[in-house]
Amino acid sequence: MSNLETRPAEVRCQRGGELEAGEGGPTPAAVAAPERPAVQVLTSREVPLGGPRAMRVHRTLPQRQRSLIGAWCFADHYGPDDVSVTGGMDVPPHPHTGLQTVSWLFSGEIEHRDSLGTVARVRPGELNLMTAGHGICHSEVSTSDTTVLHGAQLWVALPESDRDTARDFAHYEPPAVPLDGGVARVFLGDLAGHSSPVPTFTPLLGAELTVDPGAELRVEVDPGFEHGVLVDTGAVTLEGVSLTRTQIGYHPPGTSRLQLRNAGADPARVLLLGGEPFPEQIIMWWNLVGRSHEDIVTARREWEDHSERFGEVPGYVGHTGRLPAPPLPNARLRPRVQP
Ligand code: MN
Repeated sequence: MSNLETRPAEVRCQRGGELEAGEGGPTPAAVAAPERPAVQVLTSREVPLGGPRAMRVHRTLPQRQRSLIGAWCFADHYGPDDVSVTGGMDVPPHPHTGLQTVSWLFSGEIEHRDSLGTVARVRPGELNLMTAGHGICHSEVSTSDTTVLHGAQLWVALPESDRDTARDFAHYEPPAVPLDGGVARVFLGDLAGHSSPVPTFTPLLGAELTVDPGAELRVEVDPGFEHGVLVDTGAVTLEGVSLTRTQIGYHPPGTSRLQLRNAGADPARVLLLGGEPFPEQIIMWWNLVGRSHEDIVTARREWEDHSERFGEVPGYVGHTGRLPAPPLPNARLRPRVQP
């Protein structure tokens, strides 16, 4: 998926909160003090995705309070959308740099095409991981037989050592691992005795968890990781803190067990995202991740110049051509002060 904002801000991201790009910047946010609740609730904002009738998504990362959870640097949650009303998804070819995209669906189907030549059907419960590295472009269109589109698009920042790696695409269908009180599908990393075979560039966790009605789920986690629980459906509490749909409950490093409770009468479903706190500061603008304003300016120009850096998407049959880059901000923005 793409960030289709027409006036995207350049965002400097680091451990803790989000900064606008600029000189300097405050220190990373401190880990929650003992007297404060360990769980930070991150609320989403609605963003139009584009397409014929501008399907809307709920974006929780990045935001002022927090821009990264491990190397997870972007989280869009959408649906369930009646495609006959919203028009579904039609994201024309657009570029990425310095990141990986994770498409995870709960219902519906998306056709993914990229400049590696990949043509993939993204289906519920299956990981589709695209590595942009130095540069890639792709399109995403919901298929004609999709009636309800429901899922998440997540981005992972690549570390400095690998951010210019070659384009890649991986597909993996994780098994449903039964838990006491629910089910886990572990698409990246290790959880509940299951290891995803898909390699990551930094220590990372990505899993879908369903929690039975009235059940409490306890999962063992890496105490060196920070975690986010993105609520898709249900009345979920994380460590006793209530979360509603589209929110992320953030838990800092330092615990070896997370407790989820579903107080509702229907099954609850969440995405559990985790990773070692990402030690680098990144600059995100539009669909591009770099380390400096100049990185972004160069990548944007190369996309506009149809550079080999991004290639072409063969076979895209959407409503429009490739996505033009929005204008850059006129000036470098000043850093935001950490709340
Ligand atoms: Mn994309």
